[in-house]
Amino acid sequence: MNATRTTCAYCGVGCGVLATPAADGQSAAIVGDPEHPANAGRLCSKGTHLGETLSHEGRLLQPEIGGKQASWDKTIAHVARQFRRTIEQYGPDSVAFYVSGQLLTEDYYVANKLMKGFIGSANIDTNSRLCMSSAVAGHMRAFGEDIVPASYNDLDAADLIILVGSNTAWCHPVIYQRIMAARAARGTKLVVIDPRRTETCADADLHLALRPGSDVALMNGLLAFAMREGLIDRDYIDRRVFVPDGFWESLEHDHDLWSVARSCDLPPADVQALFDLFAAHPRTVTMFSQGINQSIRGTDQVNAILNLHLATGRIGKPGAAPFSITGQPNAMGGREVGGLATTLASHMDFAPENRSLVRRFWASPNIAAKPGLKAVDLFRAIGEGRVKAVWIMATNPAVSLPDAGTVREALAACPFVVVSDCIANTDTSAYAHVKLPATGWGEKDGTVTNSERVISRQRAFLPAAGEARPDWWIIKQVARAMGWREAFSFDSPADIYREHARLSTYQNAGKRVFDIGCHAAISNLAYNAMQPWRWGGDAFADGRFSTPDGKARLVPVSQMELGKPLKAWPLTLNTGRYRDQWHTMTRTGLSARLGQHRQEPLVEIQAEDALAHGLSDGGLALVATPQGSSVYRVSISDGQRRGELFVPIHWTGQQSSGGRTGVLARALTDPHSGQPGFKNAPARISPF
Ligand code: SF4
Repeated sequence: MNATRTTCAYCGVGCGVLATPAADGQSAAIVGDPEHPANAGRLCSKGTHLGETLSHEGRLLQPEIGGKQASWDKTIAHVARQFRRTIEQYGPDSVAFYVSGQLLTEDYYVANKLMKGFIGSANIDTNSRLCMSSAVAGHMRAFGEDIVPASYNDLDAADLIILVGSNTAWCHPVIYQRIMAARAARGTKLVVIDPRRTETCADADLHLALRPGSDVALMNGLLAFAMREGLIDRDYIDRRVFVPDGFWESLEHDHDLWSVARSCDLPPADVQALFDLFAAHPRTVTMFSQGINQSIRGTDQVNAILNLHLATGRIGKPGAAPFSITGQPNAMGGREVGGLATTLASHMDFAPENRSLVRRFWASPNIAAKPGLKAVDLFRAIGEGRVKAVWIMATNPAVSLPDAGTVREALAACPFVVVSDCIANTDTSAYAHVKLPATGWGEKDGTVTNSERVISRQRAFLPAAGEARPDWWIIKQVARAMGWREAFSFDSPADIYREHARLSTYQNAGKRVFDIGCHAAISNLAYNAMQPWRWGGDAFADGRFSTPDGKARLVPVSQMELGKPLKAWPLTLNTGRYRDQWHTMTRTGLSARLGQHRQEPLVEIQAEDALAHGLSDGGLALVATPQGSSVYRVSISDGQRRGELFVPIHWTGQQSSGGRTGVLARALTDPHSGQPGFKNAPARISPF
């Protein structure tokens, strides 16, 4: 049987894979696609074992109303009726969608169009809010649009790569392989900035185990050093960057080597080593991920990195860029269509001219007037009874949102909860009044966009399981049942993609960088055969930024007060991923081989801390935060700083009674992006 060319279901690297289904239709042989630009045939362990996660065991195979199987017609009519009634009685903002970076761009487009253009509310947010919304907010502040001015080619061309808040070797392994290949070929220098000494540090020239949350102090210190050493690119700034009054002066005090080292709790010699590497290598890529984004000051941390690159002109040139790496396979596609409550569509915000443009294009009756509720606020609104009907698609917020216990209480109290998923029983679907069976990876057809803006086709190579249907089809049917038949007459993902491409170019005339109008009339044949391609070109050297004067912005940011640990909460809790698991393990948990890497959730703790708290390696410990507590097995690790703990995010109440990190995270968010601060919670630990 011929292999189908598609993309991996997991992370934002967006690797191409060749999938050959087995005769039983419930497994497949998977190899890397040698022709895909993201991976050139490489795969990590998760991608390699994708074929073991296709079993129908545990799948949701029929629609259900109130726990009983029902026909699609009856179920669609029921969902449409309940949403209509709620809107009629309480208004459009009384309903919400909570969607996912696992959706394909076409699914996302239809969901966004229904909520923002027809229901007339912007209460559609995505689990990407938890992943990279601080990067989006930082990009919009600096560039006027959510632009990622980098590509993987920059990693090949860079002389210095700085990884900030990213365990790349585990979380984006194929990028890490690419960095290692560039390093072997060209001697690229590698710096890792991370409180933990992770696997990514093994090959680094320099690891800065900074105090958690002190990234702004370090980046501002590096920028102040660049000022002192004449590394500021005045010519680039004159042409391309707006500098607010007082920006340079704000860096003149308290940013000397000793102050920075003290703020970041780093040896001055290590800080100086970073400064020297930066001075010696103008081709610098600073790649950042959740350690930067998942903070209550994530947006400021992003802008500190963007400031550094804009001020030194290390942007828009081969090998020189700030580079936000996304967690999910299609976080970027969601950003393109407006899957976040804070963007309207096609990278436009809610400015009056954008609202009227999108409304004209959609011929919509009721365009959303303002940004909607962001993820944490959305579930808070459900708990407070302000949102009375919610449709959750392809995500598991009862586990993954911070303060997950409160999320569960909110869902339990919500009058109408709809869950679309591949999996029959998740922690979230336990609260569903209606379950809608969605097609899964291997059965779905559409496009995804990876971290470097490459749009790739995700192709079906298996028949749909049971009565499962594509998400776009389910949303379309509900929209039509609500009365909007013509606007939701899509027959295929290609139909939706063409409309998405037309919207991106509609009355754009160079105002926005996001423009895929070249595909506005793409034929079904060409859509099916589409090769991976990057929108926006390779670099942003000569174009305008999407601001009124065409210039990027330096954004003044200062280090937040970090304070001392409290007596009752003497430790700091960090969270993250394991190499072979993905999110809440609904898919990776199906592969026995992936489960061998880490068989249970561990709390990693430094040896002297373990001794001080009466813990031994392999014993059990209760980890508590002001939000909640859970049990983990102790792993004494010399990669931890003193006073800090690390736990993984993957385990839920379904797989284990312990290791439930969702109940530990606080529902505190960044003021600009609304992204929850999963890192750096005050904590304590005791033997269990
Ligand atoms: Fe899949 Fe990411 Fe691994 Fe590539 S690096 S194979 S996209 S999980």
